[in-house]
This record gives sequence, C-alpha cells and structure tokens, in this order.
Amino acid sequence: MPSARAAVLRQTGAPMTIETVEVGPLAPGDVLVRMRAASLCHTDLEAIEGSLAVKLPAVLGHEAAGEIAEVGPGVSGLQYGDRVVLSWNPHCGACFYCDRGQSILCRQFLANGPEAFHFDGRPRLSCDAVPVHQLMYLGGFAEYCIVPEASAVRVPDAMPFDRAALLGCGVMTGVGAATRIASLRWGDVAMVIGCGAVGLSAVQGCVLAGSGAIVAVDPNPARRLLAQQLGAAHAVEPDEAIDVARVLTQGRGADLVIEAAGVPASFRLSVEAVRPGGQVVWLGKVGVQQEVAFRWGSLMQEKRITRSSYGGAKPQQDFPMLARAYLEGRLKLDEMISARISLEAINDGFAALKRGETVRSVVMFA
Ligand SMILES: [Zn+2]
Ligand SMILES: [Zn+2]
Repeated sequence: MPSARAAVLRQTGAPMTIETVEVGPLAPGDVLVRMRAASLCHTDLEAIEGSLAVKLPAVLGHEAAGEIAEVGPGVSGLQYGDRVVLSWNPHCGACFYCDRGQSILCRQFLANGPEAFHFDGRPRLSCDAVPVHQLMYLGGFAEYCIVPEASAVRVPDAMPFDRAALLGCGVMTGVGAATRIASLRWGDVAMVIGCGAVGLSAVQGCVLAGSGAIVAVDPNPARRLLAQQLGAAHAVEPDEAIDVARVLTQGRGADLVIEAAGVPASFRLSVEAVRPGGQVVWLGKVGVQQEVAFRWGSLMQEKRITRSSYGGAKPQQDFPMLARAYLEGRLKLDEMISARISLEAINDGFAALKRGETVRSVVMFA
C-alpha cells in the first residue's frame, strides 16, 4: 500500500502539518482513492478551531474527488481508474433509520462518527505506527484515502476533479435542500439566507426545482453579485429581506426559506420571512450548546421547519445527476471556486475562508 503526503491536524488551533502517513491495508469492501481535488469547507474549519470535537491526530477534508487506485476483496461496483466523488455519509442500509430512508441518522454512522476512523470503526491511516483519524470517515487532505465502496460515487469521466469535489458536501447540501428536503411548487418565491458555497448551491437548487423569484440574502456585496449570476432575481442585505419577500408575494412572505448562514440572526430571519404555512429549511449551525432565541409568534401559523445536514443526500443518485447538470450547463460550479492551491498552502486557505474572502479554495493533487 502507498504512503501519502497529508495535512495532519495534531493540535486544535494550530496549523496543520504536511506529513507522510501510511495508508492501508484494504479490508473487504474498501476502495483506495487517489485524491485529485479536495476543497475547504467550514466544517473542517470548525474541527481546526475546536468547536467541532475531533480526535487527533486527524486528516480533515470531506469534500473531495479522485480516482480509484485499488479495490479490496468483494468490491463489485467500482474498478481501477473510476472517477469518484466522496460521500461523507456511509450508512449500513439496515438499521431503524436506514430502513426509514434517513441514512444521515444511521446508527453505525452516528455511533462510529466520534472515533473518526473508517466506517467500521477501525483505522486505515497511521503515522509512525500511531493510528491517524479520518474526519467524517474520509480524510480528503491526503494523496490517498481508504473508504467503503459506498462512499466513493462514480461520476462521468468528463467531470473535472476540482468541480467534482464541490459536489460532495456544499453543493449536495444546498441543492438537496431545494430538491430533496423542500417541496417547492413551480413559481414559488424562495429565499436563501447566506451566500457561501451552500447558499449559492441552494439558489441553484431552487432554480433546478422550478422556483419562481429567488431572493438571496447576504451582507457581502460580492456574494450578492455571485448569487445573482447563479440565478437569484434579487440579492439584498439582511435587513431588506422581509420587505422584498413581501413585495413579491402580496404581503404573505416567502414560500420557502433556506437558511445557510449559521448565525442566530439568520435563523430568526428565516422564520420571520416565511409565509404562514410556508417551509423553512435550516442548513447552517451554531455551537451545539448555544441557545438561539425566537419570537414565539414567528414560529406559529403552520410553518414547517426542517433541519438538514446533507440536504437529504442520496449520493448514488444525486452525485451523477449533479455532475450531469454541470456538464450540461444547468449547474454552475466554476464561479464557486475562488482559488486552486497546493496542499502546502492549506493553512493559508483556511485563513482566507475564515476571513470570508473565498467561497471555495480547492487543494489540487498531482
Ligand atoms: Zn443504518
Ligand atoms: Zn462540508
């Protein structure tokens, strides 16, 4: 099995270090993925800063694409050279939640998540004989990773690796909020709060799902411009959002509000801006112990609020569909890549993400 250069997080709050890790061996059902592109997502940043607890040392990176370098015993659906996007939601397919189509709550997925090794709970990476953890069962910031077959989803060979990587987390979550979680009707007025990678994808998901006017909300003018390029009819500051939605709906409010900013004010805005009987999808998050206050009246009138981590992802169906949508020009991804960087520049990449300067920086592997 190969060794791999990897960005290793050894201490929260400290820069990751570029080290060589040992990969393997492959267990039955495993595939070895040679990474080609891995993008920087806010969840990685939470792990770096310690607001998301992760065992160390760890390789982060959960929005990644590569090609199959080797398959373990019993793998039948993938072969050497296949182009794949990684899914961070492996699931058993047989537990209470999987049986109900809620694979994001899979018992094995949740039970082994905190240990942050492979989906079976055992390590696949090591450094000087010490096991190295893989964030979200993946570990995309390394030249190679080992994942279960179901976490590597084949996409067309024409799909460029850097844009393919985006599909694995942010794009799936945002598009899925509109196409898998919400029940949009043709012409519905949708609002998307927060125009980072997830929010910009939610805007596009609303377009794909047949929404009417889309109102994008973000304090950053550059992000608002981007949202308009990607399909939002209106792009406004947070304090204008409710008025704009009312003007478009004879005073009712937005039919659907997708929250993708992850701050208390945006959760409050989401329920204030939606119409009676409308639907709210929360994608953002704050610290799990943090309280968020709401005006009770804003929660009344038959509003439906759903919180989703992965946009109801069905990766085996959705990743190839998203790739096709990109290749056919119906899903825009080029605009979301702010920078292509080397693995060595990853700490600077996260600093830029934290400052809000980038939508997505993508680490490119040779
Ligand atoms: Zn399950
Ligand atoms: Zn992510």
